[in-house]
Amino acid sequence: MENLKEINIVPRKTLEKIKPYSPGKPIWEVQNELGLTKVIKLASNENPLGASPKAIAAINSFVTEIHRYPDAGAKLASAAIAAKLDIKAEEIIVTNGGDELISLVSEAFLEAGDEVVVPSPSFSEYEFGAHLMGAKTVPVPLAENYQYDVDGLLAAVTERTKIMYICSPNNPTGTYIPAADLKRLIEALPKHVLLMVDSAYSYYAYADDYTNGLEYVGAGYPVIVLQTFSKIFGLAGIRVGFGVASEAVISTIMKVKEPFNVNALAQAAAAAAITDEEHVLASVHVNDLGREQLYKGFSELGLNYTTSMSNFVLVELGAEAKSIYDQLLAKGIIVRYAAIWGLPHHIRVSVGLPEENECLLESLKEIMG
Ligand SMILES: *Cc1c(COP(=O)(O)O)cnc(C)c1O
Repeated sequence: MENLKEINIVPRKTLEKIKPYSPGKPIWEVQNELGLTKVIKLASNENPLGASPKAIAAINSFVTEIHRYPDAGAKLASAAIAAKLDIKAEEIIVTNGGDELISLVSEAFLEAGDEVVVPSPSFSEYEFGAHLMGAKTVPVPLAENYQYDVDGLLAAVTERTKIMYICSPNNPTGTYIPAADLKRLIEALPKHVLLMVDSAYSYYAYADDYTNGLEYVGAGYPVIVLQTFSKIFGLAGIRVGFGVASEAVISTIMKVKEPFNVNALAQAAAAAAITDEEHVLASVHVNDLGREQLYKGFSELGLNYTTSMSNFVLVELGAEAKSIYDQLLAKGIIVRYAAIWGLPHHIRVSVGLPEENECLLESLKEIMG
């Protein structure tokens, strides 16, 4: 093996642009690193109530079948989703989490050199998908108070623009695009641009003028809507989400997916969870109460926060934000330090159970004196 030194397997150039994803710290890691037993995680927008009980039952009853390959078309899950949303099963693709949908859409539509318009700050997977394909991201900053800037988005579109992302409610700000603005954007976009409306947090949004974007798919616009089972349905660990678009767009995306992209338990869970209205309502209720509890606590501490349509709140801590984040971690409370979104004075806090929220607020009080 004398020549071992000469081996030089060169990765694709575009991979240099890919930054590693920075997830919320897992509970076990903080327990191990700090020797803590009680750890509260308010960092990944998971459902504090747990998974949909219907999904858990479906997983349990299907578990004896896992020696079989899953259905490559995820037909039962698609049918259940289609029935629930009153759309055609052919307008749905079930994916290994919403994240996979972003990768698949990128693989299906992006050529090297194409442009992808992304809001900023927003979900990092949009950039990941673009860079994977050697496409160029064109970030459009959110306007004042993290509102979407429709004119700014339209001005960023060129001949090379292939995809535009709108995340509403937006992660990490919790703000949303009002229906009238989304309509104006969609109607003004040139026909060579596919608009992905990422409504991963749609169930938490309560504004009268909020829309998850599905009506535009129905109306025939080049729009694809992303939904996930990771958030309100409480299934982040099993990885399942879906996209809704025209049959033509869906069948194009189908071409690039692996045959067995969604595991059998995830398919069974998704088919059951989508019908679990009781769990959705309970989850929305806990979130509404928790969000108010956090708002009140932050106000009492004199902290600015952004009103959220989602299950997390962006809070401004000032120049001490990193230090406060570290001190919270030392107390066993995991939140997200927002520097990864270019917001070094902020943290993002997922809404937890009442006692978890209370614990966070008490700890903040201690830390901030
Ligand atoms: C969580 C999330 C998703 C999807 O996550 P998966 O766990 O991959 O389904 C998509 N978009 C945003 C903005 C999210 O926060």
